Amino acid sequence: ASTPAQAVRKAGFSDAPLLRAGAPVRVQGISKSFGFLKVLDAVDLYLPAGSVTAILGPSGSGKSTLLRSINHLERVDSGFIAVDGHLVGYRQSGETLYELKEKDILKRRADIGMVFQNFNLFPHLTVLENLIEAPMQVRGTDRGAAVELARELLARVGLTDKIDAYPRQLSGGQQQRVAIARALALRPKVLLFDEPTSALDPELVGEVLDVIKELARTGTTLVIVTHEIGFAREVADTVVFMEGGHILEVGPPARIFSRPEHPRTREFLAKVL
Ligand code: ADP
Ligand code: MG
Repeated sequence: ASTPAQAVRKAGFSDAPLLRAGAPVRVQGISKSFGFLKVLDAVDLYLPAGSVTAILGPSGSGKSTLLRSINHLERVDSGFIAVDGHLVGYRQSGETLYELKEKDILKRRADIGMVFQNFNLFPHLTVLENLIEAPMQVRGTDRGAAVELARELLARVGLTDKIDAYPRQLSGGQQQRVAIARALALRPKVLLFDEPTSALDPELVGEVLDVIKELARTGTTLVIVTHEIGFAREVADTVVFMEGGHILEVGPPARIFSRPEHPRTREFLAKVL
């Protein structure tokens, strides 16, 4: 075990820029196996503050595990992860050089919002209660301020009139917009979307993508696992193609979608385009 600064230097980075607030997300050499199955194999990822990254790849390629590792929902077997000036963990050849303590994991996770395919709202709470729960519990925000922020966020996702509704009374698209507002209520530095529109009826996809598009303009660092190629082309500044636990290709959408270099990227795009 060492200090974050020592661990950062050991990973070959300069500690000062990487441990400053507003620092980029740095993932280096992360690997993760479930039993004999290697799901992430030496994955590197660099996300400058304010960047929008789309992750594409076939089912089972490790996309969700990558997001979950950044958010510390999975503990990687090896590799280095730093988010917004905080080292999340660093393990190398079985040795733990740095790891967050349990109580700090919760704190850090609050800085990293996550939006799932299936919305994951609290079914027994109203929209308002869904939005104020985490700010009050995790950040210690008082109820008045939490409610005010909730109203502001609901206006932003166009759901002011649903403030007292229960999730089951909302369409899938509305539920997902509430889920995005709920993630924003913690004012995350990084927001991770795991196939946010995959569970939606086609006619509801657009309203959710529009909300994400709007967010992309506000400077929150976004990572979006998606099969919506048109959306990725329009909104992402970087596209990452994953397969079999590897990142096979990274580049700007204009290039990846018109001139993919890796044969597997070409095959994948031929299927989804
Ligand atoms: P993707 O999101 O790209 O579809 P995932 O990261 O969900 O891929 O999964 C990658 C592989 O890891 C899949 O083969 C999946 O079955 C396996 N996997 C994911 N989570 C677990 C787990 N908790 N236990 C065992 N295998 C898992
Ligand atoms: Mg997945």
